[in-house]
Amino acid sequence: MSILNADLHCHSVVSDGTLQPEVLAARAAANGVELWALTDHDEIGGQHRAAAAAREHGMRYLTGTEISVTFAGETVHIVGLGFDPDDPQMKRGLEETRGGRGARAHEIAAGLAQVGIKDAYEGALKYVGNPELISRTHFARFLVETGVCKDTPEVFRRYLVEGKPGYVPHRWASLKHAVQWITDAGGMAVIAHPARYKFTANEEYALFSEFKAHGGRAVEVVTGSHTSAEYVKYAATAKEFGLAASRGSDFHSPDESHTDLGQLPYLPGDLTPVWELLADRIQ
Ligand code: AMP
Ligand code: MN
Ligand code: MN
Ligand code: MN
Repeated sequence: MSILNADLHCHSVVSDGTLQPEVLAARAAANGVELWALTDHDEIGGQHRAAAAAREHGMRYLTGTEISVTFAGETVHIVGLGFDPDDPQMKRGLEETRGGRGARAHEIAAGLAQVGIKDAYEGALKYVGNPELISRTHFARFLVETGVCKDTPEVFRRYLVEGKPGYVPHRWASLKHAVQWITDAGGMAVIAHPARYKFTANEEYALFSEFKAHGGRAVEVVTGSHTSAEYVKYAATAKEFGLAASRGSDFHSPDESHTDLGQLPYLPGDLTPVWELLADRIQ
């Protein structure tokens, strides 16, 4: 059923969100979420807490994560849903994916130091909830705190994207491995926020067809960073590729996220919701 308040994409302090899993669960429930997933970047350390908190608030729960992947020279995010959170291959794969973040953070700080922003590594660390998961978001919070920029989107625009002083090219997991880890652990892989990637039409076609060939099953159609025109576009893409559809706010923080948990439009009625395919994985 498409008319379900499912929110299958958000972040806690276990990655680059600002709320604890329990606080997110309470907020989701207060906003009317019926089926929830916590999808921290490259991490599943919050899964047992999130599932327990969901149960307390009477929400159904799917396990979740959002894996950083490098595809055609771009970073692509693959959401995993409904996998076994204790699966050893999945845990090892995510651990490897997180592995490069420490050294990358030092390089980001070195780039920022060259344009006169000192001690950014130490500054970013103050915002980090999980020492293995230092992200550009934590640097962005430090640059807002110190008054260098007015908000986090401005930090990304001026300092943290390709061509800017704090940008460090990085190689994440392969698409094939990310889909495999999720699928082998009994879950389903979902292409996150497809409108966010700067792909040509040919590259986007390659992403969807390779994703599908590796066993990927769904695409986020309704998500916090899509416009309503993009809902329509990716609803058509889902049908073209025979993929199910997902819905998720990508909520990170009450101060930063413009889309709150559970506040998006419902999925278009003619799509197959990914939670229908995952019925036996719902807790
Ligand atoms: P990282 O995984 O360290 O490369 O950081 C990626 C994270 O940065 C994303 O998950 C978003 O939370 C955040 N992010 C990326 N681009 C932007 C942007 N333009 N404005 C604000 N946050 C962004
Ligand atoms: Mn994030
Ligand atoms: Mn993402
Ligand atoms: Mn996300």
